[in-house]
Amino acid sequence: MEKKLKAYTLFSSSRGNSTYICYGKDSLLIDAGASLRGIETGLGILGTSVSALGGILVSHEHSDHTKGLGAISKKHGVPIYTDPQCMEVIATAAPEAAALLVPTLAGDRVVIGDIAVTVYPTPHDSVRSFCYRIETPAGTLGYATDIGHISDSVEDAVFGCDSVLIESNHDTALLKAGPYPQFLKKRISGSHGHLSNEACACLAPVLVRCGTRSITLAHLSETNNTPRLAAEESERRLKEYGIKLFGESYAGDVRLQVAPVNRIMEITL
Ligand SMILES: [Zn+2]
Ligand SMILES: [Zn+2]
Repeated sequence: MEKKLKAYTLFSSSRGNSTYICYGKDSLLIDAGASLRGIETGLGILGTSVSALGGILVSHEHSDHTKGLGAISKKHGVPIYTDPQCMEVIATAAPEAAALLVPTLAGDRVVIGDIAVTVYPTPHDSVRSFCYRIETPAGTLGYATDIGHISDSVEDAVFGCDSVLIESNHDTALLKAGPYPQFLKKRISGSHGHLSNEACACLAPVLVRCGTRSITLAHLSETNNTPRLAAEESERRLKEYGIKLFGESYAGDVRLQVAPVNRIMEITL
């Protein structure tokens, strides 16, 4: 049977992030920002398990990407690919994880069976942070969240990928009027914070021009965004460029999806 690249968001928001990717029998998780039980349940629904993973790639040390690592490491012992300085921070809360570290730096290529992942740096207010270009013989997926702006390295990671998962974190007006303290608003909207709907939407037509046929908006803030606002902003920008979205009954140029907070969603590839 022909092998396919498949990807599923298990959790996606400022509260917690984890995405499962597989190609044939090879599989990995990007981030483990949810409980062990939540991740085990998600993978169980998909007919697999944590112990079957070839590795967990951790984008950076923030807890919404790492909080399950301690319990996962204790029970399953899956290799963790992340920056050694990020691991120092992770290990204070999850010492079990440190023993499983496979030191990974920007520019590295992590190979898990027939899945090859190239690691790129991102602009974010963490010790170090990564985004990824995931390549298999059946297709490519670009993966970038927690990005204050679209840097050259983020472009290098995602341009030309068949499918791209990209952060669409906040609506600028909602963030401004919302309940967060001023310092946090400044941090989120800063060049090393999180990507706004507007900034994400600006990238969307460029992605399509570079060959992307599926865009997944991810890591939405539950306080400063809604799935509808995020989707509408990208849709509006794509339509401005004459790019048609796929509908239920008609073909288009690109599919647009919004990753739910804590429900499994298959990423179109
Ligand atoms: Zn972060
Ligand atoms: Zn995050």
